[in-house]
Amino acid sequence: MKLTKKQIDRYSRQIILKKVGAIGQKKILKSSVLIVGAGGLGSPIAIYLAALGIGKIGIVDKDNVEISNLSRQIIFETEDISKSKSTAAINKLKKINPEIKLKAFNKNLTIVNINQIAKKFDLIIDGSDNFRTRFLINDYCLSNKKILISGAISKFDGQVYTFNFLKKNSPCLRCFIPKMPDDNEPDTDNCEYEGILGPIAGIIGSIQANEAVKEILGIGKTLCGYILIIDALKLTFRKVKLNKRSDCYCNEKK
Ligand SMILES: [Zn+2]
Repeated sequence: MKLTKKQIDRYSRQIILKKVGAIGQKKILKSSVLIVGAGGLGSPIAIYLAALGIGKIGIVDKDNVEISNLSRQIIFETEDISKSKSTAAINKLKKINPEIKLKAFNKNLTIVNINQIAKKFDLIIDGSDNFRTRFLINDYCLSNKKILISGAISKFDGQVYTFNFLKKNSPCLRCFIPKMPDDNEPDTDNCEYEGILGPIAGIIGSIQANEAVKEILGIGKTLCGYILIIDALKLTFRKVKLNKRSDCYCNEKK
């Protein structure tokens, strides 16, 4: 695969980075990322990854765009209200970068459909808003040795964690949260109950996109084995070690 003149022009500012170069750009163009949730996190994740040339991007979301989404879900415009989120998001990405493959999955991710949807993607980014989906994606990525980059936001706070299940010693979500919280109760992820200020979604989503590129290129030190906790009011960034628990489900899977 040779980069075209147009690709060299489009991606020139990242190609000149020594750690990316033409070889790295080709890796980016060959990579595929599935984004679960076209919301506050999914918006910046999708925009950045499409812009920098991820070869194939899938977006999973069953909801339609609501007016209350527009304060933070920056991939959507007022005219998208009532449209399918996954389709509206893909249509926006086509305008940003018409040269990449895009696929909308207008459905909820379930134990029945996750393999069919996710198997063709190298890396999964979780921008969902409920624990049921988070645990489902964690267990799928663990069983299928995929890289998972997860983010969560609430009020003025956010967290990012990366699990690289290609590595033997990667912890998993269950090492961090052993028992799945009950989604019937308003949980800390739920913007509807808790509220959210838009830019924290931009900060966390941008970090998830950045981690994804680092994993694809194999550059830098990724978050695997740590949780990044951001308090946007105090503006503190804390990186906390997350060890693999010896009694966790992930040990049985190895
Ligand atoms: Zn675990």
